[in-house]
Amino acid sequence: MRTGMDRLGFEVPAAKGRRMCLEKRQFLTKNAARDFSIKGVKHYDNSVQQPYRCGLCGKFHLATVRKAKK
Ligand SMILES: [Zn+2]
Repeated sequence: MRTGMDRLGFEVPAAKGRRMCLEKRQFLTKNAARDFSIKGVKHYDNSVQQPYRCGLCGKFHLATVRKAKK
């Protein structure tokens, strides 16, 4: 079965690829990702998320920054 992974030109274990890319929301720009994160923090009390460029799809995703536990 062909998947989006085939276009990448390198092998990524499917489970890892899903976790770090396919299951995540995509953003075209870092700013779009950051805006979305800020909105989530303001309106839904989400934890802060850090935009990063994805090595798989070349777009941006958000990584949750875990709040330090006391
Ligand atoms: Zn990706």
